[in-house]
Amino acid sequence: MKYDTIVLGAGMVGMSTALQLQRRGQAVALIDRRGAAEETSYGNAGIIQSEAVMPYAFPRDFSTIFAHALNRRPEANFHWSALPELAPWLYQYWRNGTPERVMRSARAANPLIQECLAAHMAWIDEAGAGHLVRETGYMKLFRDPKKLEAATDASQKLKDRFDITFQGLDPNGISQLEPHLTGDFAGGIHVDQPVSISDPNALGNAYVELFTKAGGEFLTADARTLEANGNGWQVHSVDGAIEAENAVVALGPWSGELLKQIRIKVPLAGKRGYHMHYAARGNAGLLRPILDTDNGYVITPMAAGIRLTTGAEFARMDAAPTPVQLERVEPEARKLFPLGERVEDEPWLGRRPCLPDMLPVIGAVPGQKGLWANFGHHHLGVTLGPITAKLLAEMMTDEATFTDPAPYRIDRF
Ligand SMILES: Cc1cc2nc3c(=O)[nH]c(=O)nc-3n(C[C@H](O)[C@H](O)[C@H](O)COP(=O)(O)OP(=O)(O)OC[C@H]3O[C@@H](n4cnc5c(N)ncnc54)[C@H](O)[C@@H]3O)c2cc1C
Repeated sequence: MKYDTIVLGAGMVGMSTALQLQRRGQAVALIDRRGAAEETSYGNAGIIQSEAVMPYAFPRDFSTIFAHALNRRPEANFHWSALPELAPWLYQYWRNGTPERVMRSARAANPLIQECLAAHMAWIDEAGAGHLVRETGYMKLFRDPKKLEAATDASQKLKDRFDITFQGLDPNGISQLEPHLTGDFAGGIHVDQPVSISDPNALGNAYVELFTKAGGEFLTADARTLEANGNGWQVHSVDGAIEAENAVVALGPWSGELLKQIRIKVPLAGKRGYHMHYAARGNAGLLRPILDTDNGYVITPMAAGIRLTTGAEFARMDAAPTPVQLERVEPEARKLFPLGERVEDEPWLGRRPCLPDMLPVIGAVPGQKGLWANFGHHHLGVTLGPITAKLLAEMMTDEATFTDPAPYRIDRF
């Protein structure tokens, strides 16, 4: 079977890449070892974060670093046994946490963030998936007046610099927007630009359907069978060999593992995160994602129930699940919102694919003709899938790119 391009990985990033290339006239095979959007793109908080210009930076003050290192804060959990493996990446992440470098990453992310929502909404309309979208923004809650003040100042700076609007809320304003939340709040911040998705897996499947209906092939294959075959690249699918001039690595957190096979090293780590769904008690309801900033978790209404997502766990990619953060924050979430029974027996575990500067890799893999990369979308892969796919597709088809791709080069580290 011959194609112009094989896209490896059918998460939000890979499927978007396949669709963007197809729209530019290419014959594309999208491959995965599982179904579409069944890994990281399944279990996230489902927020298209059109406000998220600032990256999740490594903390700079020692008290926060120590609190995280000693697992005293619920937003982070360290497996100390993984330190030898993670140390080089953590060092680079720390180095990228200076105010200057964080601002450099923010400026580089901005052109993608500016366009991310429009790129999604066009496909959502076309796929008839509007019922999955809530245009109710995203709310952050604060119990400490000093933290609220600092966050409000930071939001004002973002507004001045990047035009990201927000609304400060007093406790009464919080209740008006979300009547079922309870707590001793100093106040909140409501960002109205982001939309949220009630079922990220269903959105992924809607996009893959756009692709297959237009003649694209979605095939089962192991990306690790990738090999150069003279004029291009080849993968072995369950239906036989697939050949193409180009291949795109869009394997999310598994991208580094594949590139290692061809002796290319990228500093990619998976910041792990968990989710659990809960029933809501009585007539309680939630209208938008809520970030409890004091306890480092998000609750958001999903088709399957109220989804609670945890902060970051620093561990080996394939270490057994240790959902201690979920156990720690669930009682706090129950104080915040009337959660009922857990819906699943076991928490879901995913891995945010993170490069140390919290920017994705988008572009050609140097020295490997016809090999391209689109991965490392960290906390924002749902948000950035379609727009980073557009940029890569423009590069691959020699179109003028809508923004300078230089900040996302794979050889920047
Ligand atoms: C708890 C949590 C909350 C999050 N919340 C948000 C949010 O609100 N908004 C947001 O924008 N982002 C969020 N994210 C981040 C987002 O989910 C990820 O950045 C995004 O899903 C990454 O997409 P991807 O396509 O790169 O990777 P994935 O979705 O992981 O896709 C990679 C694909 O590669 C396939 N694969 C791997 N190895 C092989 C192989 N050998 N052969 C074949 N196929 C293979 C996998 O099966 C998978 O389908 C969150 C993440 C977590 C963990």
